Amino acid sequence: MMRYKITKTDFTMLLSHLLTEKYATEVLSGTEKRNRFAVVPEFTSDPEALANFPLSQLLTYGYTRQDSASNTILHSKKALDTKVAVIGRACDIRAMVELDKKLQLEWDNLFLIGLHDMGYIPNKTLKKWFKAEAIDETTVVSERLTQTEFILKFADGTLKKELLSDSFNIASNCSRCVEKSHPLADFLLGTYGLPEDSDEFIITPQSPRAEKIVKALQWDSKQIESKLAEKYDAVATAVIDKCAIKREADLEAFMTNEDRFSFLIKCTACGICVNSCPVCFCAVCSLKAQVKAKTMDKMTFLTTRFTHVGDTCVECGRCTTNCPQNIPLDLVFQSLRQTFKKKRGYAAGEDRSQTVMHLDVK
Ligand code: SF4
Ligand code: SF4
Ligand code: SF4
Repeated sequence: MMRYKITKTDFTMLLSHLLTEKYATEVLSGTEKRNRFAVVPEFTSDPEALANFPLSQLLTYGYTRQDSASNTILHSKKALDTKVAVIGRACDIRAMVELDKKLQLEWDNLFLIGLHDMGYIPNKTLKKWFKAEAIDETTVVSERLTQTEFILKFADGTLKKELLSDSFNIASNCSRCVEKSHPLADFLLGTYGLPEDSDEFIITPQSPRAEKIVKALQWDSKQIESKLAEKYDAVATAVIDKCAIKREADLEAFMTNEDRFSFLIKCTACGICVNSCPVCFCAVCSLKAQVKAKTMDKMTFLTTRFTHVGDTCVECGRCTTNCPQNIPLDLVFQSLRQTFKKKRGYAAGEDRSQTVMHLDVK
């Protein structure tokens, strides 16, 4: 597998190429609001505007509450009739696979650049840490996550490092995620194996059209040496192995806990988990409407939601990250997806050719 080391400028050129060569009419980019930790998704067809996209291993719509690339694709309906290039995480691509099955987008309209990530640090964790450490977010120019540390780089070139710990870590869902890249992405974009203060990325073409683009952009000289390629693969494997161990232990503990649904009582039926979910596609949520009309109690709201999206959940974890009551929805949905995979061989978001599970009743 060929991999190439590129700069942010190279990445911007790639996005411009997608527009000029008509692979996409628009790019789902992002705009900073206040600072790079408050990026909101935005479509653009202006190649010059792409240079402002605050790309990093962590951002890509990761910090702005309920936004994600897949959620934006769903709600904008853009990919129904417009060719769009999307930069998203593996769970975003899984969500788009499910949205394709539910006719919420036209798959052939998508050009996908998938992050090969470690996970993201929840916004509330970061905000608390910035405040405690008196960090001015506007002076940060890049950030990086390794298996053990979170590293910020400031405009003056200095670094600030924080060891990952119980109180400062990636989202709980990500700590159990064992699918951090997606084979259906045209390109994969990662930082595994690069020095911690590097501003570069490693990009891997995964489709014939991506390979064609690499040739057109003349990236031959950027191909990485075998030592770095081995390091990249070794880190990717180590990241997954660590998550697999945690996943097995956490899901076993959750599924054997007789009190595992005691959290239901805490749900206020605020609906934030619905708004965050990239596979909740009903134009009007009948559950939210019934809670508002007081014809449905809060526990029924939540348990009904489990049955509505359980078979479509792609384990993005947005519901948990955004839940104001800190309800462990990720454990519910990860255990459901794992059970469906073991018992029915169905894992939402993996394979476009698989029939939606609830329609596949034998
Ligand atoms: S759930 Fe997995 S793919 Fe999604 S952000 Fe977390 S680590 Fe990445
Ligand atoms: S689970 Fe959390 S986010 Fe969802 S409705 Fe209940 S309180 Fe709100
Ligand atoms: S149910 Fe939660 S984890 Fe599953 S896709 Fe929706 S937001 Fe993501």
